[in-house]
Amino acid sequence: MKVCIHRGAREIGGNCVEVEAQGVRIVLDVGRPLDAVLDEEVPLPPVAGLSAGDDRSLAGVIISHSHQDHWGLARQIAPDVPLFMGAAAHRILQEAAFFSPAGADMNPAGFLLDRQPFQLGPFRITPYLVDHSAFDAYALLVEADGRRLFYTGDYRGHGRKSALFARLVRNPPQDIDVVLTEGTLLDAQGAATRTPNDERSVEQTCVRLFKATPGMALVVYSAQNIDRLVTLYRAALRADRNFVMDLYTATLARATDQASIPRPGPDWPRVKVFVPRRQRLAVKNAAEFERVQWVRQSRLYPEDLAQQKERLVMTFRGSMARELEEAGCLAGAAIVWSLWPGYLQTDQRLQAFQARQALPLVHAHCSGHAYPLDIQRLVQAMQPKRIVPMHTAAPAGFRNLVAPVDLHNDGEWWPV
Ligand SMILES: [Zn+2]
Repeated sequence: MKVCIHRGAREIGGNCVEVEAQGVRIVLDVGRPLDAVLDEEVPLPPVAGLSAGDDRSLAGVIISHSHQDHWGLARQIAPDVPLFMGAAAHRILQEAAFFSPAGADMNPAGFLLDRQPFQLGPFRITPYLVDHSAFDAYALLVEADGRRLFYTGDYRGHGRKSALFARLVRNPPQDIDVVLTEGTLLDAQGAATRTPNDERSVEQTCVRLFKATPGMALVVYSAQNIDRLVTLYRAALRADRNFVMDLYTATLARATDQASIPRPGPDWPRVKVFVPRRQRLAVKNAAEFERVQWVRQSRLYPEDLAQQKERLVMTFRGSMARELEEAGCLAGAAIVWSLWPGYLQTDQRLQAFQARQALPLVHAHCSGHAYPLDIQRLVQAMQPKRIVPMHTAAPAGFRNLVAPVDLHNDGEWWPV
């Protein structure tokens, strides 16, 4: 078995790995680079048969999870190349496509199931459900020719599903030849680029903020980050407030098809829905009225927002600013920025809104990625023969963290 990292050996994002055994190949992730600008045409990595679908030695493409930097180029793959991903991840992307370019309607040949191996040519592939900020995310054990490669995808040990990481460390796959692991949060010395924080403390911070805010609490977060949705919902309840989703978030929550995820409906009386103008128009223009029908019992209208403002935690984006200003619901409000702090600098609309309304803004966030200590824990538990970093800007930093480390460049083939 041999491996080529096409992209991601020395950058965060654009993950793509090709694996070959007995003349047959599979591809793990076809991500879009994070530095590609909107609408930029990014060519597929040079994998034979990926764009034309004319090479039978390409047995399939496996998408580890629903983040753009892992699946974003999948739309350019020839339709007859078999595609595999999580069923919930697929539904989330499919539903997201109605609202956002961050979605896609793909046609998978099969779905990944936690610890259920499947065969593609000579490859036996076992997905491991992991704790990550994307819902339904997997690491992949790839076996062929008596060799074993463990591709972590993106993972962490400090999210709402930290039990999955604990399970992996307690009971890791054995006799691993190579662990191909992410190192998003590593610096060149192998230390963490961010102060460690976890989903639990984000919840705690939010409870305090929601209780201390006299008016509406506006939270800015990614609708696809279902862990964060749960954190914010729980914090809202602990502060005795109702939680308001927009239609996009409500739709993705339903798409998880998991009973423990809050969503509009009779089982979740404290979940409310506000449908912003832009989403109302999208529904009307597409004449897809079922998209609002199912939330009608939970809906709040602008006059409700003004009336109930001090009892609400409101899902918010810069695009909703004018509408809320018109609704007259912002007296005593505060903004909670629950995304990576760097994104705030690029959100001109939100910054202008905050300045116009003179609203306080506080940060409450933790990363979706593994801290160096968790990478160490994984490696210590798994005892692989070699560790190969990827999805990192500082691969050499791994040398101060774990051993033995092999560094490989993009486009280089190496044996497992
Ligand atoms: Zn990710």
